[in-house]
Amino acid sequence: MIRENLEYTNKNIENACQKAGRAQQEVTLIAVSKTKPVSLLMEAYEQGCREFGENKVQELVEKYEVMPKDIRWHMIGHLQRNKVKYIVDKVAMIHSVDSLKLAEEISREAVKKQVDVSVLIEVNIACEETKFGVTKEETISLICDIAKLPGIHIKGLMTIAPYVTNPEENRPYFEQLKQLAVDISSKNIDNVNMNVLSMGMTGDYMVAIEEGATYVRVGTGIFGEREYPI
Ligand SMILES: *Cc1c(COP(=O)(O)O)cnc(C)c1O
Repeated sequence: MIRENLEYTNKNIENACQKAGRAQQEVTLIAVSKTKPVSLLMEAYEQGCREFGENKVQELVEKYEVMPKDIRWHMIGHLQRNKVKYIVDKVAMIHSVDSLKLAEEISREAVKKQVDVSVLIEVNIACEETKFGVTKEETISLICDIAKLPGIHIKGLMTIAPYVTNPEENRPYFEQLKQLAVDISSKNIDNVNMNVLSMGMTGDYMVAIEEGATYVRVGTGIFGEREYPI
């Protein structure tokens, strides 16, 4: 099942890239494996997946320990400051930075462990009360503050768009995140680039790609429905 799902997903990515006139290499598929057992992740690995996304520190660390070391792990869920120390030297990227205090903790642990940590700023682009992330208006000043910290490097923006049945409804939000990245990029802030746009999930990744996503985070579309909602 995983092989077919991956083939289908990659085909969709290819089609969306074609439609948007983008090269397929610009888009990286992150297999969101939260709640799924290592055996299923290994199936995806054997089909060529090397980018996995998890939203809980403990689960990420457990899977990191037992899976091949050429995997790039993405922390995509809300991150508590007291747990930063467990993952700074294990993840390729933290997608969910939304406060200066969290960034300061990441910086402190990065310096201590002598690693460089790549992060994205999570933007609550649709201003949903239930979601983490900074508002569009707060984003620039947060980025300027984080840019000064050692050991942490801002690579772009991430958003979790609203849950919708028609993906077209999210197009304006993806467009807005892209425009925000362009605006920030034009400011040429030291230690900041906007090369990564992490947006699009199972229900809407094709629209996200058309609007400029460079990472799409697909869970259900690869591993099937999750047993319990997270
Ligand atoms: C669970 C999750 C996903 C994947 O969601 P699907 O709808 O299953 O593709 C993507 N991003 C984040 C931040 C998630 O928590």
